[in-house]
Amino acid sequence: MTSRLIDESLFESRESADGEPPRLVGARCSGCGTVVFPRQDSCPRCSDGVMAVRVLPVSGRVWSWTLQAFPPKPPYRAPVGGHRPYHVGYVDLGEVLVEALLAVPRAEIRIGLPVRLTTVPAYRDEDGTEVLTFAFRPERDGER
Ligand SMILES: [Zn+2]
Repeated sequence: MTSRLIDESLFESRESADGEPPRLVGARCSGCGTVVFPRQDSCPRCSDGVMAVRVLPVSGRVWSWTLQAFPPKPPYRAPVGGHRPYHVGYVDLGEVLVEALLAVPRAEIRIGLPVRLTTVPAYRDEDGTEVLTFAFRPERDGER
């Protein structure tokens, strides 16, 4: 089965050799050090910095979260089988807050939970290609 990333510009590369999911890529301002995700061409905080590509950390902590109980407005596309409620929120990666899908069970989700980058199926293209988006899952001992 073929698959593709929902937006290549958000990621460093398709997949690394060791099977790790592709890392997220943001941008960092040379003037004030502000890190943004997704990438921007200009700094939101100052006017004299140059934005350079910045590969983001893969681990962070849940900063806030909510339950997406109903389907969001387009461009959201429901997965095969229809919309199911999911968690969404912000993950604190230390240098930047990233809004992301949280692949964390209801019983586990809490502010401060250590999480790690992963990819999850978002929906299927008309030709059957599985479209993957980034998400964060619980970081557990003994797992990478
Ligand atoms: Zn700046």
